[in-house]
Amino acid sequence: MEMIENNPGFCCTAIQFANREAIQQLCSSMEGKKVVLVMSKTAAVRHQWEDTIRQLQTGCDLLWIEENVAYPTQQTLLMGIEKVREFEADVILAIGGGSSIDFAKGLKAFWGVRREWFQEYFSQENASQGNDVQEQFFLEKITEYLSKKKIDIGKGVEIIAVPTTAGTGSELTQWATIWDYQKNCKYSLDHPALKPDQALILPELTIKADIPLTIATGLDSLSHAVEAYWSKKTNPLVRSLACQSIKTTVTYLSGILRDPENLIYREKQCLASVLSGLAFSATRTTACHSISYSLTMDYHIPHGIAVAMTLAQVAERNRGAYLEEELLDCFRPYRSIGEYLRTVCGGRVSLCLKDYGVKQEDIPVIAGKSFTLGRMDNNPVELTLQDVEEILKEIIE
Ligand SMILES: [Zn+2]
Repeated sequence: MEMIENNPGFCCTAIQFANREAIQQLCSSMEGKKVVLVMSKTAAVRHQWEDTIRQLQTGCDLLWIEENVAYPTQQTLLMGIEKVREFEADVILAIGGGSSIDFAKGLKAFWGVRREWFQEYFSQENASQGNDVQEQFFLEKITEYLSKKKIDIGKGVEIIAVPTTAGTGSELTQWATIWDYQKNCKYSLDHPALKPDQALILPELTIKADIPLTIATGLDSLSHAVEAYWSKKTNPLVRSLACQSIKTTVTYLSGILRDPENLIYREKQCLASVLSGLAFSATRTTACHSISYSLTMDYHIPHGIAVAMTLAQVAERNRGAYLEEELLDCFRPYRSIGEYLRTVCGGRVSLCLKDYGVKQEDIPVIAGKSFTLGRMDNNPVELTLQDVEEILKEIIE
C-alpha cells in the first residue's frame, strides 16, 4: 500500500493521433492478453464498435464492463471491483469520455485490494447477513481509502485510454474524480501510476459528440488551459502549451458548432485538448474548478460548463498575477474571455446559474463549498468567501 505522491510532472503517456485503422492495430496488439474493456453499451452502439468488440472477444480474454459510468461514485467503483475480482488483467482499455477513463483509474487504484477485501468480508460472521450488509462493508472500505488518499495499484496493469470527447484531458493526467452524492463531496484519486500508459486520439470518434457535449468538453479544455496559464505552478513551457491550446479552441470550436462533421475542425479541437491536458497535468487547476464541484454535484451542471461559468470573473480577480496581454491575445478577435464564452454558448448552452435552478439564497452555501484543497490554493490570487459569493452573484443571471 502506498500513500499518494504529489509530483505530477510532465506527461509520460505515449500519445498517438490516428484514424480508425489504428483500432485494428490496437486489436492485434491485444491478442493473447487479458483485457478489461471499459466502454458503455450505448457508446459501443453509437460508435459502431460491436464488430471490434467481437474481434477483441475472439483474440483476447476480454472482460467487458458495459455499464454507464458517467460521474463515477463509490457505488460505480464497487460494481467494477466486483466484476474484476477474479480477473488478472494485463490491460484496462477505457473508451469513452473523461468519466470512463476516470473509472479505469479507479479500478487500477483498488486493483491490489480487490480480492483481499472479499476474503476479509467472507471470513467474517456477518458474511451471511445479505447484500445490504455486504455493500455497506465495501462502500465503507472504498470511502476510507478515498478519504485517506490510500490506493493499492495493480502492478503491471496498463491503462490505454481512447477518449471519445475532446476536452477532459483525463487521458493525460494522473488523477480522477469520484463523486459522493450522499455526503455531497468529491474525492480525487491522485497518483503517478494512474496516468494512462497510452492515449489513442481518434478525432473521428468525437464527431458523435452532440453540440452541448462538444461545448461542455471544449470549454473544459479551455478552462484547463487558462487555469494552467495562471496557476501558481505555471512555467514558460506550460504557458506556451496553454496559449496554443486556447488559440486553437478559439479558432475551431465555433467552426465545429457550424459544421459538426468537419473532421479537420474536430482534429484541431482534439489537439487543443491534448495541449491543455499537457499544460494542466503539470500544474493542476485553480479557482474555477474549485468552485465548480458543488455546481455539478448539487445542480447537475455539466462539468465543463460549471468550470467555464466563472472563468471571466476569476480572470478579472486574478488581474496583475498573470500576463494579461498575452492571455487576452489568445482570445482575439474577441475583446474578452466573457465575450468569447457568450458567443460560443449563445442560444445553445446557458452560463447563468438561475437556468440550472440556483437561487440567490443558495449562494452562501455554494461559496462555502468552493474551497477545494489543492485547487483554490493553487489560484494565483487568494480569494475570500466574500469574493466567491460576489463571483457567483455576477453569474446568477
Ligand atoms: Zn476539468
